[in-house]
Amino acid sequence: MTVTDQALLRVQDLEVRYGGIRALKGVSFHVGSGEIVALLGANGAGKTTTQKTVSGMLRPSSGSISFKGQRIDGIPAHHLINLGICHVPEGRHVFSRMTVAENLEMGAFRFRKVDPDDLDHVLELFPRLRERLAQVAGTLSGGEQQMLAIGRAMMGRPRLLLLDEPSMGLAPMVVSQIFDIIRQINKDGVSVLLVEQNAVQALRLADRGYVLETGEIALEGTGADLLTDDRVRVAYLGEEILS
Ligand code: ATP
Repeated sequence: MTVTDQALLRVQDLEVRYGGIRALKGVSFHVGSGEIVALLGANGAGKTTTQKTVSGMLRPSSGSISFKGQRIDGIPAHHLINLGICHVPEGRHVFSRMTVAENLEMGAFRFRKVDPDDLDHVLELFPRLRERLAQVAGTLSGGEQQMLAIGRAMMGRPRLLLLDEPSMGLAPMVVSQIFDIIRQINKDGVSVLLVEQNAVQALRLADRGYVLETGEIALEGTGADLLTDDRVRVAYLGEEILS
């Protein structure tokens, strides 16, 4: 892809294997600058594999990934953070024995020291974390740990934030708060690739979405179009369509 490519992230014909298993079979999609893009699909469809490959945790066997027009497939995760790609993996993974403040500091490691403006910005997004800066992260509630995981990623000043199932295991009210914060982060100029099981909320939030089925893109469209698509409603929203 050339530098004239308008997409912030462009994934083309991506194939990823785990040994003999082809988990992704030629996946193509893009995330435009300023967009929230949802990646939906049933268990095992390949959503996490896609995100891990974009963030440099997995190497594709073929295909290409470009970020701001530059090929990045095969570049390791710690270099991609320097380019502005931050990944919040499934399951939160905060440093449970460190305090909230120390976890946030870790998110800023690429700058060597914490910029107080970055910290202020994150604590404005997550006032709950401000009250708990000295608390050990392992003692936070599930929702607070998710906030910390996202806050820590924000300390790296991402251009593209990869979020894997941020709503998993959280109460509906906390899920709404997390989705409101994702909307706010996006308004502040961060593009988002969101993997979610919670299809309704993800599609309400997203500009566009893609549906993965057994390692291939089966459907794509605007969030609004996918929400009303019969195939999405039957397969992912559990609705019966009466003809
Ligand atoms: P879920 O919603 O359950 O997290 P997913 O859509 O994120 O699912 P992936 O985790 O990307 O799906 O898995 C895609 C396919 O790759 C599945 O068939 C899965 O069993 C397989 N897979 C994932 N990780 C590995 C691994 N480390 N070794 C072998 N196969 C794997």
